[in-house]
Amino acid sequence: MKNEDLKMYWDFEKNVPLILEENSDFLEVAKDLRPVFLQEKWLLINLFPQKLDNNFLEKSVWATKQNRYIVDGKMIDVIPTSKFKSMKQDELENVRKNILEFSITEEHIKKEKEIFEAFIIANKNRFNYLVKSEAKDDEEQFIGAIPFIVETFKKYEDRITLVSFSGGKDSTVVSHLVRLALNNPSILHIFGDTTLELPKSYEYVKRFQEDNPFTPFFEERNEENNFFEMCEEIGPPSRVKTWCCSIFKTGPMGTTLANFDENILTFLGLRRGESASRSKYKKVSQSPKILKQMVASPIIDWTDLDVWLYILSENLDFNDSYRQGFARVGCWVCPNNGTWSELLSSIYNSEEYDKWYGFLVDFSKKIGKVDYEDYVKDGKWKARQGGEGLEKSTDILVESKECVNEKNSKTFILNKSVNEDFVQLFKPFGTLKIMGKNRISELIILDRKSNPLFKIMYKDDDNEVKVTIMKSEDKYIFNKIQKQFNKFNSCLYCQGCNSACPTGAIYVSNGKYIIDEKKCVNCLKCIDKFDSGCLIASALKIKKR
Ligand code: SF4
Ligand code: SF4
Repeated sequence: MKNEDLKMYWDFEKNVPLILEENSDFLEVAKDLRPVFLQEKWLLINLFPQKLDNNFLEKSVWATKQNRYIVDGKMIDVIPTSKFKSMKQDELENVRKNILEFSITEEHIKKEKEIFEAFIIANKNRFNYLVKSEAKDDEEQFIGAIPFIVETFKKYEDRITLVSFSGGKDSTVVSHLVRLALNNPSILHIFGDTTLELPKSYEYVKRFQEDNPFTPFFEERNEENNFFEMCEEIGPPSRVKTWCCSIFKTGPMGTTLANFDENILTFLGLRRGESASRSKYKKVSQSPKILKQMVASPIIDWTDLDVWLYILSENLDFNDSYRQGFARVGCWVCPNNGTWSELLSSIYNSEEYDKWYGFLVDFSKKIGKVDYEDYVKDGKWKARQGGEGLEKSTDILVESKECVNEKNSKTFILNKSVNEDFVQLFKPFGTLKIMGKNRISELIILDRKSNPLFKIMYKDDDNEVKVTIMKSEDKYIFNKIQKQFNKFNSCLYCQGCNSACPTGAIYVSNGKYIIDEKKCVNCLKCIDKFDSGCLIASALKIKKR
């Protein structure tokens, strides 16, 4: 059964949603749903006091992906995102105060439990199918998560088994399924801490470790860079320039995994329904980023409501951000977050959120936005294309000049004199041979068969370099060399390059950029990954008009 064949219907008798694959006599209410917990209901009452009263706390409430609310089987007319945009500061303050004063009664908890029990009973067949089905899908993999995990584990028995844990609902489910299926609590969990997680995510991760003392838990984060300091220098990330993901998410985790001595089998909470790009993912595949890693996704075809069905049926602990109303948990500053997440962050993470808002306003002024308040409030900062208005964007990209009297040669002017980092940047091409005389150095790059590819001539304390291609089949060789010069000009030691390297050969820390030639397999992925060679240069690049 494919995700697109599934729909959410309403069982009016039990007053809960049903996950079904075919047209049925039940009323279809949405493509997917999530449960609305008491805290979120209370927030809605406070946002819409004219429309909702305390009886709302006892209703069966579920939210669609667009944050519309289905209450006792009918969609109601409240749109919190529009409301948030029109709210004045004092109104928001008032809501914040009321929300934080909410105290849940035993009666409310009992009623909420009853609703979820009815939901579990109504969807029992779906639960069994998701967890136990021994039917095979189009990829010839077991549909049921348990037989799938058991079979995948057997197939890759010689590998270390890991669970990638984010503190979100999907990895919570995968963590439980893997330990259950393998009957082994000691499966290593790795938590990639972006340092920008929601406060409740950190609380949950701590609780998870305390509640699962036999599960080895490893935390990974970028200790070298600070998101907010980087924002000062290169501006906040935008939807098209999400420079932060490689630095704070995929980079640190990738480097750790690539440096494992053994091969790895990682179970992920990835789901195809989450985005168009994920819809093409395979249930089991070789990681495109880390050579040693196979990735397996037991819940790849589950809907949001399937995930909740599992959590509620198994009575699992989960991240309290979902109780507050977050549909997804992740970095609270992400430019891809919608208005609803912003509203929730402004309430539940208000101190940090106000600081961030203040930074965005100051940044908008700095880059010359006259309507800076609107620029921030209307989310226009999320559509930024490059480093316009930022000093750092002026000299990061290197330009080249053909040498008229020497074939296959170009000169490049760098924004600083050549230093140790410079030489490291050419290791991806092959073996290096350095010769020097009278302050003039010649760096010759040899391919795997020791044939010279190209040479670079430079003087000590000078920023002009000359490149001569000696023999290369690669017609884009100059472009690749230029990308490395861009790296040299703009490197902030952000660890973005680490995230591109499948063998863990790149180390970037303490103001040093090092490539371990013993680990480097000359794949050039660290050069091809970013269009300007460097993540920071790409983020700051300004389109020529
Ligand atoms: S070269 Fe660019 S992407 Fe690579 S580590 Fe330096 S700043 Fe980051
Ligand atoms: S060429 Fe490939 S293996 Fe070598 S440092 Fe770059 S990404 Fe890593």
